[in-house]
Amino acid sequence: MTASITASHFMTTAATPAGFPHFHYQNGELFAEGVALSTLAQQLGTPLYVYSRAALATAWSSYQEAIGAHRVLVCFGMKANSNLAVLKEFARLGSGFDIVSGGELARVLAAGANPAKVVFSGVGKQDWEMQAALEAGVKCFNVESLPELKRLSAVATRMGKVASVSLRVNPDVDAQTHPYISTGLKENKFGIAIEEAPAAYQLATTLPGIQVVGVDCHIGSQITEVSPYLDALDKLLKLIEQLVSLGITLKHLDLGGGLGIRYDDETPLAPKLLLDKVFAQLKARGFDHLELVLEPGRSLVGNAGVLLTS
Ligand SMILES: *Cc1c(COP(=O)(O)O)cnc(C)c1O
Repeated sequence: MTASITASHFMTTAATPAGFPHFHYQNGELFAEGVALSTLAQQLGTPLYVYSRAALATAWSSYQEAIGAHRVLVCFGMKANSNLAVLKEFARLGSGFDIVSGGELARVLAAGANPAKVVFSGVGKQDWEMQAALEAGVKCFNVESLPELKRLSAVATRMGKVASVSLRVNPDVDAQTHPYISTGLKENKFGIAIEEAPAAYQLATTLPGIQVVGVDCHIGSQITEVSPYLDALDKLLKLIEQLVSLGITLKHLDLGGGLGIRYDDETPLAPKLLLDKVFAQLKARGFDHLELVLEPGRSLVGNAGVLLTS
C-alpha cells in the first residue's frame, strides 16, 4: 500500500510533500532521502517503486517509543506491502508479522521472520496452510469461525500438534472510517459475534488440537479516532472477565491494526495517542499482565514509498 504523490504534491511549493517526511524537493527535483528520483528512474527504468528505509524506521520507532517498557508485540499487517525488501527491513527491526495465507507465510519466512512472532489471520484458511503454519511454529492462529476452529483442531491432531489460538471476535463497534474498510460492525463478515464468543471459547477448550491463548479483533482501516479502539477494548475486556469466570485465562489481547495516515488533510492517529489510553485502560481494569499484540499495516509503510512512472 503506497500513498501516491499526486500532481498536486508536485505542484506544491513546500520542500516536503505533505505526509512524506523522507521525500523532499531540492531545486524543483524530488529526492528520496539523499537520492534524486529521476536518477533512479533513468538507471532502473519505470514503473519503479522506491521505498525509504528511513521512513520505515521512523514509522517503526513511532510504535516502539509509544510502547516503552510495556509488553507489546507489533506484527506488521503485511497485506499493506509484501515486497521482500520491505519485509526484510521489518524482520531486521524485530517486527512480527500478521499473515493471511500460506503464500504470505512463505514470504515472511524467506524474509527472515521469527515464526514465533507470526500471527495467522484471515478467513478461509485451507488445511495445507494450517499445516504449513503449524510446521513453521507460528505464535497463534486468529480463528474466525467455529468451523475453522474444528478444522484446525483436526489438522493439528493429525500432525500430533496443538495449535495456539485466539478467537477473532467482532465487537460491533463503528470504526468511523469508510464503510468498505470497516470490519468491526455486526453486519461485517469478519469474526465471531462477541455475544457468541464465550460459548465458542468453551467449545475451543474441549478440542484436542487447540490451546486457547488470546483474543483478537480488527475493526477496520484508516481509522483516525481513538474512541472506536477504546470501545472495542472495553468490549474485549468484558469478554475476558466473563472468560475468567468460566475458568478460561488468556495470555494476550490483539487489537488489530487500522491506524490512519495522511493522504490529503487527514490527521494521522499517532500510536502514542492510542497506546497511552490503552495501557491506562488495561491497568485500571487489572489486565496489565496481558501481552498486547498490534497488527498495523498502512501506518508502517503507507508513506514510505513512491511509484515512479513516465
Ligand atoms: C488489514 C488488516 C490489518 C492491517 O490493517 P491496516 O489498516 O493496514 O493497519 C491487520 N489485521 C487484519 C486482520 C487485517 O485484515
